[in-house]
Amino acid sequence: MAGATGECQGRQSGEDRMEVVKITPRGYCHGVVEAIRIAKREGAAANGEPVTMLGYLVHNEHVTTELSENGVTLVADEDRHEGLSRIDRGTVIITAHGAAPAVLEAARKKGLRVVDATCSDVTRTHALVSRLADSGYEIVYIGKRGHPEPAGAIGQAPDHTHLVETLEDVEGLDLPKGRPLAVTCQTTLSMWDTEKIIQRLKERFPSIEVHNEICRATQERQEGAVAAARRVDCVVVVGSPRSSNSQRLVQVVENLTGKRAYLVDTAAELDPSWFNGARTVGVTSGASTPTHITRSVIEALEQL
Ligand code: SF4
Repeated sequence: MAGATGECQGRQSGEDRMEVVKITPRGYCHGVVEAIRIAKREGAAANGEPVTMLGYLVHNEHVTTELSENGVTLVADEDRHEGLSRIDRGTVIITAHGAAPAVLEAARKKGLRVVDATCSDVTRTHALVSRLADSGYEIVYIGKRGHPEPAGAIGQAPDHTHLVETLEDVEGLDLPKGRPLAVTCQTTLSMWDTEKIIQRLKERFPSIEVHNEICRATQERQEGAVAAARRVDCVVVVGSPRSSNSQRLVQVVENLTGKRAYLVDTAAELDPSWFNGARTVGVTSGASTPTHITRSVIEALEQL
């Protein structure tokens, strides 16, 4: 976070109003739009039977509240098996992050109706992991420990997939000898940090096959945020602290540009003192942030 401390850089304590730059693309991605559409459809068709999200459908509290108003309740455990143990009947919705086949099987065994809202980009990674494992590969998966997406992807071939999160993890990798190697990753990681880990893997294992699965929505939001951050004094990212892609937007702005980036869930979390001295602020939002929340943050910034 070089240079990313204290207040925004820029404006002296003059009277000029701060310019608010709306960074594009921002906000909902296709996977989130589709998952919400599916959940609302199921809530509307429930007919008295419970409809439950197995974990946060997308990592945003505003979306969770809206869905509960539409008849879809939440079992919040990030461990999908634990979550399943709390659901006895009705429909269970698999979240946009996906789940391991063992979870879907356990849900069906309980007699639950399973509706899969996994993002198509995540499903593609699942297919890749299965195909590689079936072809005899050992797979290194770059992802965040404890996040549901890696759990679902690794669950496609748990005996042949190895989670790494950091460069230190790469040093500690002890892979079986004599098998072809491949690396893939979570869809919402920092493009730049992931590239460093892939480079180190290629140094340690020169034959490793690279399948970078950071999704297009994540790439475009990160590139847009970094490019805009170079032209403004600081950046506000609207998103939940739970949201991996929102956290990564803060991280890439700070690491690549040295500009300060603030993560806020709502306009109420804005602290005017952050913008002392700022002439321009960029605003972006995570892929799971509702548009009306971002709009209210922009309006609040325009009043500063
Ligand atoms: S961030 Fe990417 S992988 Fe995640 S739901 Fe959106 S499009 Fe799908």
